[in-house]
Amino acid sequence: MTATILLVEDDLSIAENVILALARDGLECRHVTLAGEALARLRAGGLDLVILDVGLPDGNGFDLCRTLRGFSDIPVIFLTARTDEIDRVVGLEIGADDYVPKPFSPRELAARVKSILRRSRRFADPPPPAPCAPPAPSAPPRLIAVDEERALICCRGVPLELSRAEYLMLKTLAARPERVFSRGELMDAAGLAEASLERSVDTHIKALRAKLALLAPDLEPIRTHRGLGYSLIREAPMREVPRTGIGDGTGDSG
Ligand code: CA
Repeated sequence: MTATILLVEDDLSIAENVILALARDGLECRHVTLAGEALARLRAGGLDLVILDVGLPDGNGFDLCRTLRGFSDIPVIFLTARTDEIDRVVGLEIGADDYVPKPFSPRELAARVKSILRRSRRFADPPPPAPCAPPAPSAPPRLIAVDEERALICCRGVPLELSRAEYLMLKTLAARPERVFSRGELMDAAGLAEASLERSVDTHIKALRAKLALLAPDLEPIRTHRGLGYSLIREAPMREVPRTGIGDGTGDSG
């Protein structure tokens, strides 16, 4: 059994990081930005935990939690920029399970989510992500397959453990095989700050190559174009297995 988390957060960059961190731990996440939407989703049910920002454009996370407690005991983690003790007490008094002040590490938040889910004793550790489906049931798994819904990339069917920057860079390269992307383009794709050196792209590419080499040691999937940037190779079309033996071509019209 896997858990579904509702993330209520109007800051999209925070939301994106949280969604990626949860996906890495095999947790599915629904995201809304408004208290009103959140309440509708919560009334519909089917959720296992809520991560709730306190300051929302159309209301207050505390009020939302009070309303929620009228009909549900779903675990709640508050996210807030306010760190004073009163908010902490209020948050816990109205039935929150945990309280995470911003800024926070998305990985740490994911760890807290898992710990609360375990405490609620309804869930074991989530299973590792399922492999990416091959293009057809009988086809071999693709060299690189991107599953955007799960923020997951597989190499030959095996999920890769990628950092956020590695995921975004490889996704970009895989969208257009053989297209050469400059370091600047890859930095933009990975959301790296302008201040960070282009060298940091090389570092991420090196890490990606090491991970891909474990699963595709016979290939060098990422090519370097000196002075220009990087590209991903196009996957070779399936070659027909040469037929051998006597009687080849007589009556075997496969
Ligand atoms: Ca907010």
